Amino acid sequence: MLRLDQLHAAISGNKWYKLKRNLEAALAGGKTGLLTFGGAWSNHLAATAAACHATGLRSIGVVRGERPATLSLTLQQAQAHGMELQFISREAYRTVNPAEWGARFPEYFVVPEGGHNALGALGCEDILKSAPGLDAYTHLLCAGGTGTTLAGLINSAAPGQTVIGIPVLKQAEWMEASIRELLRPRHTPVAWQLHYQFHQGGYAKTSPALFAFMNDFHAQTGIPLDIIYTGKMGMAFRGLALGGHFQAGSRILLLHTGGLQGNLSLPPGVLSFH
Ligand SMILES: *Cc1c(COP(=O)(O)O)cnc(C)c1O
Repeated sequence: MLRLDQLHAAISGNKWYKLKRNLEAALAGGKTGLLTFGGAWSNHLAATAAACHATGLRSIGVVRGERPATLSLTLQQAQAHGMELQFISREAYRTVNPAEWGARFPEYFVVPEGGHNALGALGCEDILKSAPGLDAYTHLLCAGGTGTTLAGLINSAAPGQTVIGIPVLKQAEWMEASIRELLRPRHTPVAWQLHYQFHQGGYAKTSPALFAFMNDFHAQTGIPLDIIYTGKMGMAFRGLALGGHFQAGSRILLLHTGGLQGNLSLPPGVLSFH
């Protein structure tokens, strides 16, 4: 398992890779900050706030839903990192137009929800350079939300490697096109596949089986997984392996993309760690 969760306490995992080129572009363009979008428990908002804070940039988070009486821990932390929060109704969020927000805040570099853009995918190409020897694996397994990270992996995988994506949303067949949008032409195409049956009921949906798996995984390995992404990726790995998906001799790299702050949305005691 590649432990991107251990990269940084607040700028967790793959979110840092998706942000770094966007931060560079904002600075190069003379912008004073980043403006982006997300829900109340968004890892992306948390990471954007922390990364901007560390870079000396401002940040604005456009948050889905009316301002609640008490902010989620994620939003409290984002605010503590200086993020200005703009709440909009769920309805308005559904048709949110990044260009409009860019026109409203011209000093800000606008990053789409989840960091889904070419710069995000480009930054994720560095994931496989983050440790030596990663080209020796036959399979790379990673959770998918927008597919940006998967696109970066597919663009940078070694010839012969297979990239396996586990969408954590229900009916996520759109993710294939969302990945293709960000693929670059390659001399040696890399095989990739998405497995859609491991979402546990949908985005941010959990199940007793998921918690049991995560607790068991932690007991066996000492590694904490998160409920939204990596827990489902871990279950998918187990499901695929037990289902005979991998040939003998396969070397499989699981990507721990971080996101552990999202576990704070659970009542205490559900997980044996955190
Ligand atoms: C956001 C996130 C993902 C999904 O990344 P995408 O690039 O949107 O597919 C995976 N794992 C964790 C922990 C995340 O926070």
